[in-house]
Amino acid sequence: MMFYVIGWVAVGACAAIVAGSKGRSPVGWLILGAFFGPLATTAACFMPAVIRKEAPPTPVRRICPHCANEIAPSARLCRWCKRLV
Ligand SMILES: [Zn+2]
Repeated sequence: MMFYVIGWVAVGACAAIVAGSKGRSPVGWLILGAFFGPLATTAACFMPAVIRKEAPPTPVRRICPHCANEIAPSARLCRWCKRLV
């Protein structure tokens, strides 16, 4: 009986590890793995990975060499002093 319980917990841990590596909740999958055993582990294996959307990179600003104001990185004309940069 004890061996059975340990095996069941190990299977739950496997589900948690697999789910965690795919960006899913390891705790939730540990519980699912404990309830459904190998079924949950198999489901976790075939589950697509969660793709986390990363925040868009903040546009890098540069400084106008003439007036020292911030200008867009692709700007050719300073919006403040109207000089070519
Ligand atoms: Zn300027």
